[in-house]
Amino acid sequence: MRSPIPDYLNAVLEKVRPNEDGKPAQYIKTLANADTSKLAVALVMVDGNVYSAGDDQVEFSIQSISKAFVYAIAIEDAGLEHVLEKIGVEPSGDAFNKLSLHKGNNRPMNPMINAGAIAAHSLVVHPDATAEERTDRILKAMSRLAGRQLYVDEEVYEAELEDADRNMGIGYMLKAAGIISCRPAEVVKGYIRQCSINVNVRDLAMMAATLCNAGVNPVTGEKIMPADSVRQVLSVMTTCGMYDAAGQWVSRVGIPAKSGVAGGVIGALPGQVGIAAFSPKLNDRGNSVRAVALFEQLSRDMGFHMMDVSQIARASVSTSVAKIVAGKEEPHHPNCDRRVVIFALRGAVRFAGSERLARAIVRELGEPDPKDPGSGEHRDACAIVVSLRDAFSLNLVAKRVIHESIKRLLAEGKTVVVIDPNSVLQMDLDSLPTSQHPQIVENEKEAREYIGGTGCSAVTQSDNW
Ligand code: GLU
Repeated sequence: MRSPIPDYLNAVLEKVRPNEDGKPAQYIKTLANADTSKLAVALVMVDGNVYSAGDDQVEFSIQSISKAFVYAIAIEDAGLEHVLEKIGVEPSGDAFNKLSLHKGNNRPMNPMINAGAIAAHSLVVHPDATAEERTDRILKAMSRLAGRQLYVDEEVYEAELEDADRNMGIGYMLKAAGIISCRPAEVVKGYIRQCSINVNVRDLAMMAATLCNAGVNPVTGEKIMPADSVRQVLSVMTTCGMYDAAGQWVSRVGIPAKSGVAGGVIGALPGQVGIAAFSPKLNDRGNSVRAVALFEQLSRDMGFHMMDVSQIARASVSTSVAKIVAGKEEPHHPNCDRRVVIFALRGAVRFAGSERLARAIVRELGEPDPKDPGSGEHRDACAIVVSLRDAFSLNLVAKRVIHESIKRLLAEGKTVVVIDPNSVLQMDLDSLPTSQHPQIVENEKEAREYIGGTGCSAVTQSDNW
């Protein structure tokens, strides 16, 4: 059987192909002469699986999409605080190449417009670095993000340099405003080189998937940027990534994105999938007409909108009750014939999942509430089992809520057993007195035997027990 996903991608391509609106960017000769029939899409899952359709090997220059990644590199090289002193994070609503700075502080509004991107470029390596050092650093980082060696398209670079007065003007404005300290022409040349790096949609989707995967390239496994930088980059992509159409994009597509004047668009859906689309004709906002249509369709069909509320974290905790029973040959154990309450957590648990667990524990084991029939029913249970067997991960706040809930149970003298074969709980036991240590075990059998003694079993409606 063939996977339905490539067929679906081909069908979406054919749906948007008849759209002949727009025209390629005119101000760079090579882009103005692009083959406008080209059309491609790629998806890279966070486990590295790649799907693509159409002209997925055709290369084009990355252009403004580079701004997102160079911002991350600037954060790594100069530190977030320093970057924020130089470049704001507010959407500007202006055209990408507007000569504008924020009135109060002279900073470029954000790193996704040219003024901010040129400033970000100047922060790569260090302020006194040569243009070669900076472009070399950027090319290497982009190649690691894509998982293959990328190159500057010299023809595109020369073509843009020929007519770079506006960007040069921005460079001098930044120097005069004290935002950059190095020679403006060098910084702008480096910025134009960064924009002239060639990619195809598969490269771009891999780069986007690296963002989705907390900075780890999902195929090479290389950690390329810290998760904090990724969050910063995705945030500005969300609010400022689609030129002056960012608001419309967020409401219609709802995926952090960045587009470039060569016709590429990337989308990065955190924790799920990196997407890239390409077609050279642009709308009046500078975004590829067909790529925008593709993203709108994908978002609708695949439920990619990040504000989608159709999946509420309701099923992440299940509660069940079991009776611990000694085997025939086993000596009698004080916990035999007594009840245990089992709380099982599923999936990638964040605050909402941990809150449900904390609430379920309080309901089952707390004082009965007359307004809530059934509450407090199991407060005399001989043990509480928290099963993290099917919990894929716990984020920081989920860990804290669960640690605290366990500590409170132990402080009340309860026996707590945690099934945690993948060590997702990571409770700092060294900082706690032994009386506050839960018993951490690998599986249900170990949990039963700890509670009821060797060889005992459990009677329950649930299949695991
Ligand atoms: N090199 C282009 C410029 O600065 C990039 C613009 C873009 O892709 O938006 O004009």
